Amino acid sequence: MNKKIWLSSPHMGGTEQNYVKEAFDTNWVAPLGPNVNGFELDLETYLNNNVFVGALSSGTAAIHLGLILLGVKAGDEVICQSMTFSASANPIKYQGATPVFIDSEENTWNLCPKALEEAIVDRIAKGNKPKAIIAVHLYGMPFNAEAILAVASKYQIPVIEDSAEALGSTYKNQKCGTFGDLGILSFNGNKIITTSGGGALVAKTKEIKEKAVFFATQSRDHAPHYQHSEIGYNYRMSNIVAGIGRGQMEVLDEHVTLRRAMHDFYVNYFEGITGVIVFTEPNADYYSNHWLSAILVNPEQTGGKTSDDLRLALDAANIESRPLWKPMHLQPVFANDPYYGGTISESLFQNGLCLPSGSNLDDYDRNRIKWALDSFFKG
Ligand SMILES: *Cc1c(COP(=O)(O)O)cnc(C)c1O
Repeated sequence: MNKKIWLSSPHMGGTEQNYVKEAFDTNWVAPLGPNVNGFELDLETYLNNNVFVGALSSGTAAIHLGLILLGVKAGDEVICQSMTFSASANPIKYQGATPVFIDSEENTWNLCPKALEEAIVDRIAKGNKPKAIIAVHLYGMPFNAEAILAVASKYQIPVIEDSAEALGSTYKNQKCGTFGDLGILSFNGNKIITTSGGGALVAKTKEIKEKAVFFATQSRDHAPHYQHSEIGYNYRMSNIVAGIGRGQMEVLDEHVTLRRAMHDFYVNYFEGITGVIVFTEPNADYYSNHWLSAILVNPEQTGGKTSDDLRLALDAANIESRPLWKPMHLQPVFANDPYYGGTISESLFQNGLCLPSGSNLDDYDRNRIKWALDSFFKG
């Protein structure tokens, strides 16, 4: 049996262990230290937009702290893109608040600006103005930042930019992660760079970053003893995993190039196949890191072959693929929360499939994928 081809697996650059070894050698085996500071500085330099980065234990923790920083409390409402990973929405519930889910637009698969505005107007009319908007750059594709930020500022609602999948993507040459009032990043094992597990909050001022770090380290007041005036969290990144992050920052641009090359591979391949669309930037304003390459399969044009048939065929060849994120408004756990929009995200979920996209795939892997696709579509 051939080895498994994964959707997206960790890809080390080579220098990560040097940073980790240094942490051991100097006994900085703690949730702060030179690697944490260095990793934050690397990210600030990379994002290059006068931002301040706080390294945290996960992207989910970053979203949770983002909501806390924006004062989201029990009974509040928070708008959230429906088509996303559940980690975008779960922290709303941690705060005892209610998510209000919004459909996608067709070209970016992200928050639809029209449905967003309809929802805001309706929630305000119902007497509960949303406290925040969580917008996601799905699979690395930037959301329509111009339109989304215009709606947000018209109604004076802060934006949490979920850039967990989009480090290295840009919209109008500005790096994703720097558009929202707060941005969040993830370094989970399957993301474009990884610290094995980790995340970050991107803030516009040093004060906000420091407040986030304060919450993330148990909200300790300035005192020789342990004194607390606010509820704290244990959400800081450790100096060990930050060392992995520093090594990964050295290969981030290379990973983006390689993921984009995987996307080109699929674009070329599917040019010859009727009924399959590869998810691609709508125009030159958008530059996706193509964290995951995704396709839409229209069974009416493929002789009845569905995206799920393809998933099973690839699986039989020991190649991992996965349906798109199932929209949150269709998830049992969020069944009672409000939803605005039509059926775009639902039909994307019906017909979509993510294909192997890792920066560590080689020509041998690509040939195996091509073989499996050929035998499914042409065999
Ligand atoms: C991965 C991911 C997160 C959560 O990040 P973790 O570091 O895994 O907690 C949040 N939002 C989206 C869209 C993600 O893909």
